[in-house]
Amino acid sequence: MLKLAVVGKDVSRSQSPQMHAFILSRMGSECEYQTVSISPEQFSSQVQSLFSKYDAFNVTIPFKGEIIPYLQKVCGDADVFGAVNTVTCKNRYGYNTDGFGFLLMLTNAGVQLNGKTALVLGAGGAGRSCIKKLLDAGAEVFAFERDKARLLAVHDEFGAFTPLFEVPMRSFDLIVNCTGIGMHNTEGQTPTVTWEGGEASPVDERILSRCECAVDLIYVPEQSEFLRIAASCGKQTVNGGAMLFYQAYMADCIYLGKEPSDEEAKKLWEEYRGEKI
Ligand code: NAP
Repeated sequence: MLKLAVVGKDVSRSQSPQMHAFILSRMGSECEYQTVSISPEQFSSQVQSLFSKYDAFNVTIPFKGEIIPYLQKVCGDADVFGAVNTVTCKNRYGYNTDGFGFLLMLTNAGVQLNGKTALVLGAGGAGRSCIKKLLDAGAEVFAFERDKARLLAVHDEFGAFTPLFEVPMRSFDLIVNCTGIGMHNTEGQTPTVTWEGGEASPVDERILSRCECAVDLIYVPEQSEFLRIAASCGKQTVNGGAMLFYQAYMADCIYLGKEPSDEEAKKLWEEYRGEKI
């Protein structure tokens, strides 16, 4: 029986326990999966005990960077992104499976990326990962972030995309909301952007009617305001539910030392969704 946990500031309502239990049971393993909420002030005093208590754990907001000094090795995307969401305790290795989840979500939704244009809104932790994965997949990437210093720092690091401080009223194949605006206390809202010419206002039909597909990393609510507007314009919409599931699937493959399979991930996601309905 694997002893696992998700660690974050407030993970009391996390979907991780049921998601990981489902995936691992379908892969022939059992787990005991706990939620561990830690305040940022107490993180340094509590983090060491996690390594002895659990076989592995997932890390979420705001500790994806804070965990790194406690690790022996930071592997693959986690090293590139400077953010870890999956830790194996015995060897103290850190991984990041968000990028895998993001790309597989788009692939399975039939979204083409090679040669397409993508506008990414928000260049925080998730936005950075999405920018990098979209570039790797051959998309031409434009990114808007209201914090100019943050966007320029990402640009210095990854380059090869167009940093925007004003959003042009033009078409993009794909628009991805990585701001988190639209969930919790901002439900019903869309992110505010500065339009070319200086006007600052929420993303609306003017831009969403010009894209082919709108993607929101938010999964609660299932249809954010951003996706509702895009759907009302007749556009393809993708919410972040599948991404969440696929990053969990990839983490479980790491825990079991198993090679991930896109087909298996898709099959399990469809079963999981079916069970939830
Ligand atoms: P984050 O690091 O806080 O980044 C959010 C970024 O959006 C920040 O740069 C923020 O700038 C910017 N922003 C906030 N409000 C804005 C507004 N009104 N207009 C324009 N930009 C705005 O958060 P994160 O970790 O990247 O997560 C972002 C979202 O992705 C969250 O909703 C999270 O739940 C979701 N997520 C989903 C998955 C999944 O598996 N589906 C995985 C990872 C993340 P300021 O600092 O100036 O506010």
